[in-house]
Amino acid sequence: MKKTAGKMKKTRWYDYLWIWTIVYFTLGFFNILFAWLGLFDFLVPLGFAIFGGNKWFCNHMCGRSQLLWKLGRDRKCSRGKTTPEWLHSVWFRYGFLVFFLTMFMTMLVTTYQVFAGAASLKKAVKILWTFQVPWKWAYQGSIFPDWVAQFGYGFYSLMLTSTIIGLICMVLYKERTWCTFCPMGTMTQGICKLKQEKRVYGK
Ligand code: SF4
Repeated sequence: MKKTAGKMKKTRWYDYLWIWTIVYFTLGFFNILFAWLGLFDFLVPLGFAIFGGNKWFCNHMCGRSQLLWKLGRDRKCSRGKTTPEWLHSVWFRYGFLVFFLTMFMTMLVTTYQVFAGAASLKKAVKILWTFQVPWKWAYQGSIFPDWVAQFGYGFYSLMLTSTIIGLICMVLYKERTWCTFCPMGTMTQGICKLKQEKRVYGK
């Protein structure tokens, strides 16, 4: 139970999902196949937005934003400075979403090339879409074909990159500054808006 402004806030199981974020990166560090579990953070928020028309995932279940909050607020790692206006702007948020989706598609193409035998498995993690870091220890072969591991490396790279950006923003500005331009947040917000307009105007 947490005490907030004189009121007792009941702690739920999903308040601990920040631990899952740490576990996820640890598992992926040792075995890249665990990176597939990150799809949870992609599909569940989209599911809430598409079928429920809400951002319940963002508000309650996002382990990454919980971790940013824990480090920034509880551990005082954040300077707590006001987030610059341009990070809130529509052009930046949607521009970043387009960039992110382009990188996602590039990752899928690389996976397909390995699947089709046009390229071999690259045992490396790309940080900030730029720095190729050898990550050989995380995959020594498995019962799965190589493209499965290639997807793991690509997906882990995306997850790690977005978390690093989130941490940098958390230190420089407010705890959850990353959420202002997080591609999942932008996508789910867009979906919720569309659903709401449809309800109101019957479009
Ligand atoms: S905006 Fe992104 S990081 Fe923030 S709570 Fe939503 S999914 Fe998580």
